[in-house]
Amino acid sequence: MGSAKNRLFVLVSVCVALCTTDRSSAAGLAPQFAESACNTLLPASAGGSMPRDKHLMVLRWLGWSTYEVAYDGKIILLDAFIDIDSRNVGLNTADVHHADAILIGHPHFDHILNAPQLSAQTGASIFVAPAGRKYLEQQGVRPERIKYVRGGEKIEMAGFTVQTALAIHSTIDPSLTKKSTEFLSAADPMSESERRTFMDNLKATTLADPNVPEEDIVHQGTIAYLITFADGTRVSFRDSPAVPTEAERDLIETVTDKGKRIDVGIVGYQGPAVRLAIKDATLPLARSYHPRLLLPAHEDRAGDGYSDMAVAPPDCGHAGGAA
Ligand SMILES: [Zn+2]
Repeated sequence: MGSAKNRLFVLVSVCVALCTTDRSSAAGLAPQFAESACNTLLPASAGGSMPRDKHLMVLRWLGWSTYEVAYDGKIILLDAFIDIDSRNVGLNTADVHHADAILIGHPHFDHILNAPQLSAQTGASIFVAPAGRKYLEQQGVRPERIKYVRGGEKIEMAGFTVQTALAIHSTIDPSLTKKSTEFLSAADPMSESERRTFMDNLKATTLADPNVPEEDIVHQGTIAYLITFADGTRVSFRDSPAVPTEAERDLIETVTDKGKRIDVGIVGYQGPAVRLAIKDATLPLARSYHPRLLLPAHEDRAGDGYSDMAVAPPDCGHAGGAA
């Protein structure tokens, strides 16, 4: 996937699929569409087809900042917030039974909530900063299923490597957050049931104490991941919109020298006071990671705090565009 000959094709739907291949473009139907993995909305983690072509990657957006990466016989879940009231992607956590790893960008509820159930159903390990410890222990996750990461690790898995860097969570002037929330609550207020679910979810995972260094999600609990598959294909995941840290830049530099590039980069896009978050965080992230394909995380609607910036599919059953 590092070759300039590779082609990228993006299906814009409730799922987003990235298909790459070394083969030259065939006349007529693109070879990717012969793949059943590109002709179903059922994620591989829920029993859908895996890509057969070893140069084909299928990425599915499962709502909020949660993605499924299916490549080279592996399924990696990025974040774990699937059961979202406001965004029905046709999938529930209970449907997911296959995964090789679950990478949590940071342990706020909208990123980690469904990780315990996903790990129990798939047997996959959860990668998370120690700030997620209380929640995972409270939920009874077996200790051997948790890989605590603090940044700087290089973890060899069967078929792929996970590297980490300490990132930082978005922080925005509280007065802007207040104004943004006021605007959204007037323009697109939560229903009572949405508010109840939102508050229940929030309460379920607000166990980390920001005054305890190891539980400080903003400064110690936000992790950037770089996945490198056996053939050198790279996927980065950074789920909160904030400026890249030195540690992130160092990690990016180690894999992007000699003209190499990250193939897929998923970066934080949404935040309170959205335009500032994009200008001050997402654009610097995009420039630093400089991936061949950039995808947004965190662009969904959540209560009165985040507006809906998701790409709404014109027709969920068809390919909507190419890039
Ligand atoms: Zn957060």
